[in-house]
Amino acid sequence: MAFLVKKYGGTSVGTVERIQRVAEQLKQARDDGDDVVVVVSAMSGETNRLVGLAKDIQPGAVDVRELDVLLATGEQVTIALLSMALKALGCEARSYTGGQVKILTDGAHSKARIESIDTENIMSDIRAGSIVVVAGFQGVSADGSITTLGRGGSDTSAVALAAALGADECQIFTDVDGVYTTDPRVESKARRLEKITFEEMLEMASLGSKVLQIRAVEFAGKYNVPLRVLSTFEPGEGTLITYDDEENTMEQAQVSGIAFNRNEAQITVVGVADQPGIAYKILGPVSDLNIEVDMIVQNKGMGGTTDFTFTVDRNDYSKVVAFLTSKKEELSADSVVGNDKIVKLSIVGVGMRSHAGIASRMFRALAEAGINLVLISTSEIKVSVVIDEKYLELGVRALHDEFELAASSTNELS
Ligand code: ADP
Ligand code: ASP
Ligand code: MG
Repeated sequence: MAFLVKKYGGTSVGTVERIQRVAEQLKQARDDGDDVVVVVSAMSGETNRLVGLAKDIQPGAVDVRELDVLLATGEQVTIALLSMALKALGCEARSYTGGQVKILTDGAHSKARIESIDTENIMSDIRAGSIVVVAGFQGVSADGSITTLGRGGSDTSAVALAAALGADECQIFTDVDGVYTTDPRVESKARRLEKITFEEMLEMASLGSKVLQIRAVEFAGKYNVPLRVLSTFEPGEGTLITYDDEENTMEQAQVSGIAFNRNEAQITVVGVADQPGIAYKILGPVSDLNIEVDMIVQNKGMGGTTDFTFTVDRNDYSKVVAFLTSKKEELSADSVVGNDKIVKLSIVGVGMRSHAGIASRMFRALAEAGINLVLISTSEIKVSVVIDEKYLELGVRALHDEFELAASSTNELS
């Protein structure tokens, strides 16, 4: 008997049959004596469809408040259907939107942060023997507006509920049977990890592995929520996200995973003055536009000028290029150039702390594959490079081979 929060992603509830299958699994858990709160995503493709409708109506800047009202409908459909399917199986069930639970968030539409969760109604339903079905990805702000938590945000809803309810485990059910050394859809030799540390998972998620939303991992680490990724479609133990086991650090893999982000674009402001304040002059206004900048590189140019390069989300690319081009005179820049056909490829591993030479192995492997590196950035437990998008698959496989991630035992995490 356990108290479990189970989250099912879009593919897992993508058809009526799949919703019924999920309902059967939940009934089984209930029959086994578990208390269950379920969090669901919208049916697969639905959130994208809704975003498309909004863009058709408002091709320029979409009204973010109304967009959240629209997007939240996707999850409202699945909570209702899943509750019906449970009732059809003779299970007591009750659905809640984020606002009905009262998942209180800040007012930052489309990327709201959860501030508190009212657990009273959920707990009284659980005590009465019901399965509680909560809409993921959504909450309500202090002024009563519907908010959403950013793409992939149902993971965060689930972890936050598990933390607030003091659940024994938060189980993320998806279309793969755990966290792999890299996306198994890109490298078929990718290997499922039995365990991965919060720190590494956070790095993988922030470098583009969308198997878990970054904030979900942050939350689980902060509130010590046992978190597991499992398949909806096959039985298995999945992958447990754990705290670092210090004793095993030396034996840990040097590199535990490879992440990539296809959604980046690179912008260079060419020939700006090489003087104090230039980074601020360029990036200050970009950040005022609420646009996040990722990698930043400043190259020494000729004759006292410098080239300033950075990456942004591909969706923000044209906006930033147009904006900086309009500021060219003010920045006394020669030109603003960019490339939105690039990707960021990264290796991640806490083992990098105790092993030297990992970055050079990465560079050699990519060089041998004939892949040119456009930008490089490193931190304690990761090395990232920007490459041409057409070499992504080749790069992932070259690194997977170089760090022998397909082999078992020697690379198993603590
Ligand atoms: P859901 O709709 O269930 O939330 P997502 O599509 O958000 O599912 O996340 C699951 C997908 O994440 C997988 O289908 C897989 O392609 C991708 N993925 C990326 N990196 C990894 C990884 N390292 N391990 C497992 N899956 C990964
Ligand atoms: N439906 C939302 C999305 O597609 C949230 C989620 O699935 O987690 O991003
Ligand atoms: Mg997801």
